[in-house]
Amino acid sequence: MKFSDIIGQDAVKAHLQRAVRLKQPSQAYILEGEKLSGKKTLANAFAAALLCERGGDEPCGECHSCKMAASGNHPDIIRVMREKKSNEIKIGEIRTQVTEDVAVRPYYGPYKIYIIDEAEKINLPSQNALLKTLEDPPAYAVLLLLATSMDGFLQTVLSRCIKLSLTPLSDVQVTGWLMRNENMPEYEAKVISAFAQGNLGKAGSLAESEDFAQMRQTVVELLAHMDDRAPDQLLADADALDEAYRERMTEIFDFFVIWYRDVLVYKALEKKEALTYQEDAYAISQAARRLSYRKLKANLAAIAKAREHLAERVGSGRVMQQLLLEIR
Ligand SMILES: [Zn+2]
Repeated sequence: MKFSDIIGQDAVKAHLQRAVRLKQPSQAYILEGEKLSGKKTLANAFAAALLCERGGDEPCGECHSCKMAASGNHPDIIRVMREKKSNEIKIGEIRTQVTEDVAVRPYYGPYKIYIIDEAEKINLPSQNALLKTLEDPPAYAVLLLLATSMDGFLQTVLSRCIKLSLTPLSDVQVTGWLMRNENMPEYEAKVISAFAQGNLGKAGSLAESEDFAQMRQTVVELLAHMDDRAPDQLLADADALDEAYRERMTEIFDFFVIWYRDVLVYKALEKKEALTYQEDAYAISQAARRLSYRKLKANLAAIAKAREHLAERVGSGRVMQQLLLEIR
């Protein structure tokens, strides 16, 4: 993977590529970004580019070093492993794989690059162990800490790292990527990018999930026929939703919100192209005619309230029943 194949993250890419060009990487970096946001891809491109035999600010993809990097077998790229069951990266793991290993010179290239994924799980003793390496690293060592958040790090660790934060992509970038890479029609890509909230990895996994498509279908059918349903039917609908998606209620609420936003948008603009659920434009236009602005706002508020109740651990079935009755 080259930097130029990575969508977005221009500031992070510029910083890393400059370091490659000047052959002056810092000794330690923290890449911060949510799960699946592309930290590993950036770290891999950076490591391969630093070790590429051709120079330049991209891995050439053709030299022996790049080939080893691409196959995951470069002896100078060390991916720190941890016990799968554990929720922490323990001191023994940091010692054997980083602080002791770093004394051994690189085998092949000019650098030894340590990639520590889920670095937010490095516990306190491990951070202290790591600190010794960060305070006095050999010139060939480059540490890449990939973390969902910088909050849990010691100040002394943070102060020795270059801190780079990934930023969410725009919906247009995600939609375009889905259409190109997943061969997805625009209306479908738009729904998924609304959910992925700028996270390409999440968009990719939603695109491949059949569950997600099924869930969306169920919700849209329910919302489109809301007004024809008698209260006792609605209660049964709520139970069915709860039965099928108990663990994923917040996603169901996300679908609701996108639907009612679409109805609002249609009411204001009467443009199909502006909708996220474009394939349901007819049902949305009907709802836009039927529902007042005031009612739409009340529905969105009811969904927000339902989210709060769920967070307060009110039973999901009851929350859904209440919500459907209120919306109706
Ligand atoms: Zn190369």
